[in-house]
Amino acid sequence: MKTNIDNYDFSGKKALIRVDFNVPLNDKFEVTDNTRISASLPTIKKVLNGGGSVILMSHLGRPKNGYEDKFSLKHIISEVEKLIGQSIKFAPDCIGKEAKELSENLKPGEVLMLENLRFYASETKGDLDFTEKLAKLGDVYVNDAFGTAHRAHASTTIIAQFFPNDKMFGYLIEKEIFSVSKVLKEGVAPITAIVGGAKVSSKIIIIEQLLDKVNNIIIGGGMAYTFAKAQGGTIGSSLVELDFLDTALDILSKAKSKNVTILLPEDTLAADKFSEEADTQICDTKNITDGWMGMDIGEKAIASFTDCIVNSKTILWNGPVGVFEMNKFEKGTKAIALAVAEATKKGAFTLVGGGDSVAAVNKFNLANQVSHVSTGGGAMLEYLEGKELPGIAAILN
Ligand code: AMP
Repeated sequence: MKTNIDNYDFSGKKALIRVDFNVPLNDKFEVTDNTRISASLPTIKKVLNGGGSVILMSHLGRPKNGYEDKFSLKHIISEVEKLIGQSIKFAPDCIGKEAKELSENLKPGEVLMLENLRFYASETKGDLDFTEKLAKLGDVYVNDAFGTAHRAHASTTIIAQFFPNDKMFGYLIEKEIFSVSKVLKEGVAPITAIVGGAKVSSKIIIIEQLLDKVNNIIIGGGMAYTFAKAQGGTIGSSLVELDFLDTALDILSKAKSKNVTILLPEDTLAADKFSEEADTQICDTKNITDGWMGMDIGEKAIASFTDCIVNSKTILWNGPVGVFEMNKFEKGTKAIALAVAEATKKGAFTLVGGGDSVAAVNKFNLANQVSHVSTGGGAMLEYLEGKELPGIAAILN
């Protein structure tokens, strides 16, 4: 059997766990959202309860070159201690003498956190010497940082080669992989993808992938107007990518030949300016008043999208269907979120990930009413595009 976190004996072992503790801090350096720390607890607890010790590795922010106080992981020590429920040790440099001594003296049940890996440019470069120094701190490598799995960095990918028989995913990454597989490989029909967001250009690869895997694709958000224009509609001053009109038509004809239903918004909530103070009116999406812009889907679109969603058994949601950050234009995205929650209640498997739809389910407090909300924006997008993520391949191969 292949090594995994459930069958591995951690007793007496020092587990180097790559976590994603890249959490937001306020101006007093307090953690304002500890979701990412909480999400890593099952993996940390598994090692500690199995008689091992834990060495946490993470990045925080984007330091340019070398130490920068505002990006020090020392700021989050108390939050990590609070959530794990015990005091932790801290190595003020992720490699070097002190880190080595602290790791050598680490006892079963203890936790050591290393300083920000990205204080070394070698981390993002994947430098082998640096990676080897990190690797020497532990006996086993666990990758639980899905958000950086699409990067071939020292701690996310390169390090795995130093642990040919002692490398594995943590529970968080396992869940992300399992969720994508539940949708794209083992999805139960009807399978519906909701693809929103600003631009066709950033979602084109995903849509192409989905055409072979799903029954319905709901298209909303700014992208919908490129489709409407391509079909001969007038779209006022809505967001449009004129270079992608042919692409939009190509998607529609491919969908037809593959028997995939594409649902576009029949009507639109249009605004006279990109602002909460704008005047609004409902227009046909293909007949938007000159000078007005589509900011959200209209009532007819809400009804038809909702009907499709609540009757689906597998759902993937990527990207909002309107400018939901402004309350005036949140209604469509909120309706989608509620419909996805309702489908989940009826037994559908629902994955929200890659793009601003994660922020949307959080805004509407529905994150715990869907099957899985992905923690990795860019990583999830690339994974859904069918790319092999280096951090995942390094464990599997
Ligand atoms: P993405 O990161 O691709 O999921 O795109 C999310 C962004 O798309 C959000 O910031 C939304 O405000 C934006 N968006 C959604 N609908 C529209 C629209 N009709 N016009 C302009 N931007 C939109």
